Formats: sequence, C-alpha cells, structure tokens
Amino acid sequence: KATGRLYPSAKEGQPGHFSGTVADITERKLDEQRKNDFIGIVSHELRSPLTSMSGYVQMLMLKSQKSNDAVINGIASKAKRQIDRMMALISGFLDVARMSEGKIQLKRSCFDMAHLVKLAEEESMATHTSHQIVFHPVEYTPIEADQDKIEQVLVNFINNAVKYSPEGSAINVSCYSTGGKVKVSVSDQGMGISAKDQPHVFDRFYRVESDNMKFTKGFGIGLYICKEIIERHDGKIGVSSELGVGSEFWFELPIDNQ
Ligand code: ADP
Repeated sequence: KATGRLYPSAKEGQPGHFSGTVADITERKLDEQRKNDFIGIVSHELRSPLTSMSGYVQMLMLKSQKSNDAVINGIASKAKRQIDRMMALISGFLDVARMSEGKIQLKRSCFDMAHLVKLAEEESMATHTSHQIVFHPVEYTPIEADQDKIEQVLVNFINNAVKYSPEGSAINVSCYSTGGKVKVSVSDQGMGISAKDQPHVFDRFYRVESDNMKFTKGFGIGLYICKEIIERHDGKIGVSSELGVGSEFWFELPIDNQ
C-alpha cells in the first residue's frame, strides 16, 4: 500500500515526481504476527481446561469399569475420544503458530526410512479398516532427519487419502531411493484436486471448496505443516492429481550416505 502525493511537472510532457511512503511489507508482517500470537494464545489457553477435562473423564471411565457400569463407561469413552480429537486440533494450531515464526526445533537423528514406513503400515492396518491400504516393499534407506516429524507427514498423507476417497478404494504407499534421494508417495483413487487448486493445498488454512467439504472435517492446516516440515529438512513436497480420478502426494528427502 502506498500513500502520498503526485507532483505534476511544471513543464508539459516532462515527468513529475511522487512523494510518499510504502508501508506494505511491515504492515503485512505485523498482521501475520498478530494472527500467530492470537492462534498461539487461544490454543494455549484452551489446552489447560481440556487437559483437566481429559483427567476427569479418565477417572469416570475407571470408576465405571470398577462398578461394571457399561452405560457410563460407553459415554465416558465417547467423551474421551472427542477430547482427544480437540487436543490433536489444538496441537495442530500451536504447530502452525510456531512453524510460521520458525520456532520449531528439529530433533535430527539417523534412522531407516523403511522402518518408518513399516511403523505407518502397522498403524494404518489397525486404524483404517475402511480402505485397502497397500504398502510396497521398501529397502533400507538411511536418512538424517526428525523421525517424529517425518512420521507426522506420512501419517497426514495417509489420513487425507482415507478422508478424501471412497470406502473400500485402494491407497498405495511406496518409498524408493533415486539419485541420492528417497521419495515417499501416497496415492489414492479419491475425489482428486483440480489444476487450479493444486498449487494452494499446501497454503495455511486452504481447503478446496466442494460439496464434500461439508462432510469432511478439517481446518486446512495439515498440509501446511507437512510443507514446513519437509522444507525445513531441505526436501521437496508436492502433489499430482486429477479431478474425479485421484491424487498422489509425495515428499523427497536427501539420503544420508555417511
Ligand atoms: P484438511 O484436510 O484438514 O482440510 P489439509 O491441509 O490436510 O487440511 O488439506 C488441505 C486441503 O487439500 C483439504 O481441505 C482438501 O481440500 C485437499 N486435499 C488434501 N488431501 C487430499 C486428497 N488426498 N484428495 C483430495 N483432496 C485433498
């Protein structure tokens, strides 16, 4: 945004001059900072009462188990699941605020990517019985990275594939090394993403507008966090997709040859 005054030249046809201030960048940065602070403070404030609630509900579950009260136990378990969902959301918001300010510290170690894919396989088999998730064999591939964060990215891709594709459809997870890099990809046979939306799905709070949106919950922060994590590792992240056919989300990281 520029504010100021245009001074016409005294002579006809000669250029005049403009004097003013350009306040765009600083103002936008301040705006971002305020937004981050707000997200950070609200998430933080919500976390404490929720932690207490989680404790009380757990107590209720224990009591109802002791007194064999199946009805109360059922209600308490449902409440606990919702509290856990809210906790996960709040952690996501806190991550967004920290990521945007570059405050996330990576805990790097050397580990085998094949092992991580195996962990995701075990987890997915237990939690996503609605889809046919196929994990392709993976060879030993050492990388130096933050294992929890890379797992977070892989799990996010798998969860999205489940969320945006019909029950019973196949999801393929593959991981292979090529040219000093390891590439992990998750492809689904879901609703797909139009060419217009593809460049934006990694933006903060971006969700593709569609009728299905009403049925899928989310805030559009998962892929933003994934992008920040991969880029902090000097890796690449991307998507190729066709509307109505399916999507392939992938990330690439340098292999550790030491
Ligand atoms: P959320 O799923 O919580 O909305 P994400 O950041 O994970 O947030 O994803 C951003 C948007 O990208 C989603 O709202 C959805 O529109 C689109 N998207 C993500 N993964 C897929 C997928 N596998 N198939 C189709 N659309 C997807």
